[in-house]
Amino acid sequence: MNQKVPITIAHGDGIGPEIMEATLKVLRASSAALDYREVEIGEKVYLAGHPTGIEDSTWETIRQTKAFLKAPITTPQGGGFKSLNVTIRTTLGLYANVRPCVSYHPFVATKHPEMDVVIVRENEEDLYSGIEYRQSPEVCESIKLISEPGSEKIIRYAFEYAKRNNRKKVTCFVKDNIMKLTDGLFHAVFNRVAKEYPNIESDHWIVDIGAAKLADTPELFDVVVMPNLYGDILSDVGAQIAGSVGLVGSANIGDHGAMFEAIHGSAPRRAGQNVANPSALMLASVLLLLHVGLKHEAEAIHNAWLKTIEDGVHTYDIFKEGVSKQKVGTKEFADAVAGNLGQKPSELKAVSYGESKIEKEPVFKRTPIKVKRKLVGIDVYIYSNLTLEEFEKNMTSESYGEFKLEMISNRGARVYPGGMPETFCIDQWRVRFMHEGLCTQEDLLDLLKSLIKGRWDIIKTEHLYEFNGEPGYSSPKG
Ligand code: NAD
Repeated sequence: MNQKVPITIAHGDGIGPEIMEATLKVLRASSAALDYREVEIGEKVYLAGHPTGIEDSTWETIRQTKAFLKAPITTPQGGGFKSLNVTIRTTLGLYANVRPCVSYHPFVATKHPEMDVVIVRENEEDLYSGIEYRQSPEVCESIKLISEPGSEKIIRYAFEYAKRNNRKKVTCFVKDNIMKLTDGLFHAVFNRVAKEYPNIESDHWIVDIGAAKLADTPELFDVVVMPNLYGDILSDVGAQIAGSVGLVGSANIGDHGAMFEAIHGSAPRRAGQNVANPSALMLASVLLLLHVGLKHEAEAIHNAWLKTIEDGVHTYDIFKEGVSKQKVGTKEFADAVAGNLGQKPSELKAVSYGESKIEKEPVFKRTPIKVKRKLVGIDVYIYSNLTLEEFEKNMTSESYGEFKLEMISNRGARVYPGGMPETFCIDQWRVRFMHEGLCTQEDLLDLLKSLIKGRWDIIKTEHLYEFNGEPGYSSPKG
């Protein structure tokens, strides 16, 4: 007899316990060989004094099982409570967030009857690395980090996903016309990885027009991969325009575990009334079954769910007079899906996972990149309330030895040389010094000491490097 696959389950808060019960009813009815290990996370744990909403002992269960089916939780209002999702994501290294956004026309109202898009969002980097500073009374900074291995991992995941699921095209969304280094890196890695998949079409859109196209004509897209922030926003847009956030489940995939959940929250106002739609968590459980290799059960549940939707058995959120046949509660919907196991939809396209390969990701190995790296100068950020004229005069009246003062910028706009008097300046300035010979770290320290002696208030510095002769820093605007 096959051994049961251990999985962790958490019932969550609000509508969580009801939709989890409904999902478990269907999983059990499918006879999926799962060994369920229950853990408590969320509101009660937060209020018991754990600022992350999860107890230390729970990690061990999640680590052992490697697959986690999580109902939505309520994050208590007020300060001090950390996002449990972010904690789980970063602790387990869940780098890929996968959200299939499919429309179920004509059974669920949608403006996009042909929509079938999978959004693959990078989950760990970008503006979500959480590195923020208040640099001066007037300026806060958030650091956008994009790494070559981080980009390669997620882009490779998107192409592998496409290959496994017979998808035809992978599209990349970035804003590299503006963020030439960070988004430029993501785009360059995309182009490199795409060449390894000649049978999958690849294309690229600047995220603003790409987002507009996605909202207008989603049928143009198949698998779309993007950095964290764009993915966060556009995966919600994708889910909503497909029909409802109540119908979309997501997978968070990592090298050491995976978490599956509904994309919606705990909807506390609907809790305890047997009205919530359990579809998103049910579809998340289908993603889990595929991940652990139980593809026949995944297929049976997915098709039974499609048949239920097609039969017009709908919860209140998708119920539409004239389209729906029967308005049901959470439990009754689960009974209907369990009753349809073994059946397939006749109008909606039935899924077939029988031939699909098991979702096991190869653990990504980082290879250090060998490039010639040369220190060429430094950007010094300075706090000052001087006017542009005064700042420029004071800064340029000094000499800096082997360093040449190359430019001064304010909020990224060049104000020296060739600045415009109209440029609105705030209390944070960036001064770029380039070394005229062979630059060392000691040279930088000497420069900083001379600036401090000159009473400049240094906020931070960024060393400037060339990589294989190419500048590793952006030029100022203007
Ligand atoms: P929400 O998604 O919980 O609910 C918004 C509205 O959408 C609800 O009022 C309801 O009308 C509808 N809705 C959502 N899911 C539904 C379902 N399955 N069936 C029927 N209707 C449904 O968003 P919110 O109100 O902004 O957040 C409520 C709580 O959920 C907050 O504490 C928030 O922090 C938390 N949250 C948790 C997660 C998570 O655990 N992954 C995600 C998002 C929000």
